[in-house]
Amino acid sequence: MTGVVPDGGSLVSLGLVPAGPVSFLDGVALVDHHCHSVMADDLDRPGFESLLTEGTGPAPGLSAFDSRLGFSVRRWCSPVLGLPPHAPAEDYVARRAELGAEAVSRAMLRAAGSGVLLVDHGFAADGLLDLDALSEAAGLPVGEVVRLEAVAEQVADAGVDAAGFGDAVAAEVARRTDPARRPLPVACKTVLAYRAGLDVDPRRPDPAAVAAAADTWLARRARDRAPLRDPVLLRHGLWAGLDTGLPLQLHTGFGDADEDLHRADPALLVGLARLVEPLGVPLMLLHTYPYHRQAAWLAQVFSCVYTDVSLAVPYVGSRAPEVIAEMLELAPFGKVLYASDAYGLPELHLLGALRFRAALGGLLEHLCATDEFSPADAERVATMIARDNALRIYPRIPA
Ligand SMILES: [Zn+2]
Repeated sequence: MTGVVPDGGSLVSLGLVPAGPVSFLDGVALVDHHCHSVMADDLDRPGFESLLTEGTGPAPGLSAFDSRLGFSVRRWCSPVLGLPPHAPAEDYVARRAELGAEAVSRAMLRAAGSGVLLVDHGFAADGLLDLDALSEAAGLPVGEVVRLEAVAEQVADAGVDAAGFGDAVAAEVARRTDPARRPLPVACKTVLAYRAGLDVDPRRPDPAAVAAAADTWLARRARDRAPLRDPVLLRHGLWAGLDTGLPLQLHTGFGDADEDLHRADPALLVGLARLVEPLGVPLMLLHTYPYHRQAAWLAQVFSCVYTDVSLAVPYVGSRAPEVIAEMLELAPFGKVLYASDAYGLPELHLLGALRFRAALGGLLEHLCATDEFSPADAERVATMIARDNALRIYPRIPA
């Protein structure tokens, strides 16, 4: 069992990495380069469980607590609320209600050990703390990730004609990413994978095509608030984001039932990566699982591509070391970043950080024990992924 990461076997079950927190990254404040805010109000049990899954909630008669993620909440979040590890789900939800959302959020966010949060606040923001309140609750600086599809929809709703839509979107993206704004804009993000799939023509569309597509979509938007799904307009927004020069985050891999998973494979972005490579704008592939090996290849062959396994880490629980090990098969160590992708529940901020520290730290401890890595190199790699890669890639990190 020396010197190998066994295929298919659990590093945890084999006793090679610890299931819980390890001391490896102690003292390193994580840069969470992609996350969301947390619910402002108290949650009843159905409300809490609906945020423990990427689906709409558990199937009838089932509980979302009966999952890797639910068990992780009971094991690792219970002590933060003063409960014993593995507290029953009903005790957990009752204790949460007793303490109140504000106290729970402060405790969980501060226990995560992050140093800065880069937050996408453009998705289902109703009911979430605004970014100033999130910053206050976490006791951390917060940067804003500007969601390009949300900007385009706001431009449409503000009233613009089809001929002026393209320029209006570009101007609004430039305004929303102005460095004088607060919270500080740090990146743009596209959910092209959700809206049309990543298998679209990656080229910048010409203005006539944008105007023609806007003519159709603006009429539908005015009639029934149709979300932006037109591939030409999505590509226009994506290129407006690239024009800012800020890193462009792209949703890839698993998410909720609104996406066709096979069209979220980051390997479909190879055409875009070829176009962006000479521009030098960083493409940040988010989530990536179960296509994290494809993302790792892209990160190796394109200097502009970076990647993470954010959302998967808390979801796969104690299997996270294998997922990170698979990412690090091909991905250069300077191309992988930490993110929690937490949404709604402050527990997900804590679990994302805790699982990441345990999984990466444990994996590196194993690589040291088998003399693949020296301890000094392992420390350096851990710090790169946890913090330093983000500090190097993002030109603006709020302090
Ligand atoms: Zn996200």
